[in-house]
Amino acid sequence: MPLITLPSRRDFFRSAGAAVVASRLCTAQAKSIHWAILSDTHLSADPKNEYRGFRPYDNLAGVMPEVQKAKPEVVLINGDLARLEGLPADYELLKTMLRPMADQTPLCLSLGNHDDRNNFLAAMGKPAKGQPQPVQNRNILVVDQPPVRILVLDSLMAVNQAPGLLGKAQRRWLDEYLKS
Ligand SMILES: [Zn+2]
Repeated sequence: MPLITLPSRRDFFRSAGAAVVASRLCTAQAKSIHWAILSDTHLSADPKNEYRGFRPYDNLAGVMPEVQKAKPEVVLINGDLARLEGLPADYELLKTMLRPMADQTPLCLSLGNHDDRNNFLAAMGKPAKGQPQPVQNRNILVVDQPPVRILVLDSLMAVNQAPGLLGKAQRRWLDEYLKS
């Protein structure tokens, strides 16, 4: 199931794009699952980076032990992952900070408009072999954890600009996927 495998570590899931667009029950069995869903880590390579009194590094460092203590079956961090422009060093620090969590729990990462898809992929690695990448240049995440399946689409259009776009190919894939 993992979309990215970090060498010698547990797997990262990841996807570029901020929109969690669909979830559905995929089994009638009575079963519960614990998810931890975070967003907007806005991490800068500079741990001292501060914006309007918020310190992203301290915030992430503070929340991670709480998440780990809760022992979720899956963690989803829905972009924006990086501070503003998705710089390579932002993702390197993010990766370092997330290692302990990734060692414990499958981790899904999606991108927002302050992320850079190429830099993210360069830092986190290519998708694991055999993982579905149904639309070219888009990273679609299918996280199947019965009784829930979450699809994360990729709406990232331009770094550090507000508008996003799913595009025809991705919408077509979603349409087919939901019919199947
Ligand atoms: Zn944000």
